[in-house]
Amino acid sequence: MEQADMQRIERVLRAMLENSEHTLGRRDEIAIESAPDTIDRVQLAEEREIAIRQIEFGFSQMRNIKTAIERIHDGSYGTCLGCESDISPKRLAAVPWTMYCIGCQDKLDRERAEPEDEEFFPHLRHARRVA
Ligand SMILES: [Zn+2]
Repeated sequence: MEQADMQRIERVLRAMLENSEHTLGRRDEIAIESAPDTIDRVQLAEEREIAIRQIEFGFSQMRNIKTAIERIHDGSYGTCLGCESDISPKRLAAVPWTMYCIGCQDKLDRERAEPEDEEFFPHLRHARRVA
């Protein structure tokens, strides 16, 4: 990949990271509120559940973005962690934090419920430690 493309992607990733940090800073939304009637309590519990999921998603997203920026710097960006082939530029443009080519991502998504990624791609254990 061209140096200029890398720089552009890094700028996009950094902007996303800032955005996630900003969103995750609004923790007050999961303040534990209590409501006198049951319907309100159920609704509050649901809202809290959604907020927690968003935060979990946000943190895993932030980890992925940080890893992608590190990979730009160590020169491994754009190489699939699963099969070590090049990830298509089209895919990188759409999902700049991805670490997998579309084929490996599909396999991961299908297997996710059962074996851990680490069992699926043994060398990921190392990648994960670095990340
Ligand atoms: Zn792959």
